[in-house]
Amino acid sequence: MIFKQQFYNAGNYARLSDEDDRDGESGSIDSQRKIMQQFCEANSFVAVDFYSDDGYSGTNFDRPNFQRMIRDIKQGKVNLVIVKDLSRFARNAGGAAYYVDMFEEYNVRFIAIDDGVDTLQGDDIVLPLKNVVNELYAKDISKKTRSALNARAKSGQYLSSRPAYGYMKNPADHNHLLIDPEPAEVVRTIFTMASTTYGYNAIVKHLTHQKILTPQSYFAAHNPDYFKKKPFTPHCQWNNKSVQVILENPIYLGNLVYGKTRSKKIRSKDRSARPEEEWIVTEGTHDAIISQQLWDLAHERLGSRKREGKCGDVHMLAGYIFCADCGAAMTFNNRDFGNGRHGEFLCGTYKRKGKEHCTTHYVTYDGVYQMLLQDIRSKARAAQQNEARFMKSLEQESQHLAVQKSAVLLKDEQQARQRVAQLDQIISRLYEDSALGVIPAERFQLMYTKYEAEQKDLRAKLDAVDAMQHQQEEKAGRLRAFMEFIREVTDMDALTPTILSRLVKRITVGQAAANPVTGEKEQAIRIEFAVA
Ligand SMILES: [Zn+2]
Repeated sequence: MIFKQQFYNAGNYARLSDEDDRDGESGSIDSQRKIMQQFCEANSFVAVDFYSDDGYSGTNFDRPNFQRMIRDIKQGKVNLVIVKDLSRFARNAGGAAYYVDMFEEYNVRFIAIDDGVDTLQGDDIVLPLKNVVNELYAKDISKKTRSALNARAKSGQYLSSRPAYGYMKNPADHNHLLIDPEPAEVVRTIFTMASTTYGYNAIVKHLTHQKILTPQSYFAAHNPDYFKKKPFTPHCQWNNKSVQVILENPIYLGNLVYGKTRSKKIRSKDRSARPEEEWIVTEGTHDAIISQQLWDLAHERLGSRKREGKCGDVHMLAGYIFCADCGAAMTFNNRDFGNGRHGEFLCGTYKRKGKEHCTTHYVTYDGVYQMLLQDIRSKARAAQQNEARFMKSLEQESQHLAVQKSAVLLKDEQQARQRVAQLDQIISRLYEDSALGVIPAERFQLMYTKYEAEQKDLRAKLDAVDAMQHQQEEKAGRLRAFMEFIREVTDMDALTPTILSRLVKRITVGQAAANPVTGEKEQAIRIEFAVA
């Protein structure tokens, strides 16, 4: 863990040796230097020195200019080390770990441009470096990365230098976590609050009010040595982010998760989230602080768009109820006759802008409430009586369209994937031919543009297909969860925020009008259940 500093004095480090041959022109010392210079300019870092070791292997650190840089770090000249990619820094993970620790000790930030590694963002260096080392021996980089990660993850070792809040390191095994009772209790409180009716603001308020040290402060208070160089004053000012980080960390379920993010593209430090099914999760690597059930409830509750209301359950429907004609959220008009439940909903547009823009769409709170209650009950009964048929009817309400869509998008997925790989080879051959002067520059440009466009197009289509499949799986998951939950509520006599958030997606209210044939007043209220 390092701290952000106001100014960065960068030491740009370049290295090249025989082992790097295959990198071709893009790996030359000069090209490395240019890339780092541009990077510094783009990020307003001052490049104080350029250190280059031409002809030195990355498998050891016996390199004159690397050592000169280390001396400069110790003298405070450099507080940021930049390399083009991790293999410039090292091809030896064990030795690298020593220098990674040293960087941390001197609060020196480390950036590997092509790999998207930035220690200020909490990125690990040693783990990806292992892959760089592997890369020396293998061509299939992505496969290797994955299997190296897998091996690491499967071993269930905790690799960060600091334990996650709520845990401490096992004194007998630093790669294993034990529950730290005091903060673990705070974690439990946070999840319990989130699973009932509390939102982020309420949780933050509670923790601050209870004078509970923030995770950073708690760590600092128990590890004074860690902050020797930059004293840290413990405090109790929690914020939404610090609560969110805890609520989203699966470590509290007893699992270790790897590969949550990946770098978006080369020469970018942006990291994008990987889809959850690509995460490598090792379960039961340490004791859980909370149950899966509590986790699910808290996430279900936070995921719903319901706002925190002052009036308790009167506002339970807020965030779910919308005007069928203009789509605006309905606003609640309190007409408290004593028990707090009476009141009405009006179209938000009508309320704000007047009758030229939309009609009232007037409906009483009790009216919507009763209808919803009856509808959920009858669905629950149907679910119990004939599960298979009910499942099918739900599916028909929500699915199918997407499947057809994906078929139209791409007729032959397998073929498209093969073609993308083939184009990779064609393009790299093209580069070789161009470098060797086999084809003239204009012709190269022309062909390159053509192949690249084809590949880009195919990739976009494949991405769309992947996204669609992902959606389908999610939908199936929601359907199962819906089925499980609705069976439990057959006999309920009141709605609760939890029931709403688990079962209901949206309620749309039409304008009441007289039926031209019967003359009776009719109003269309449509309930969308949370399975679509
Ligand atoms: Zn409206």
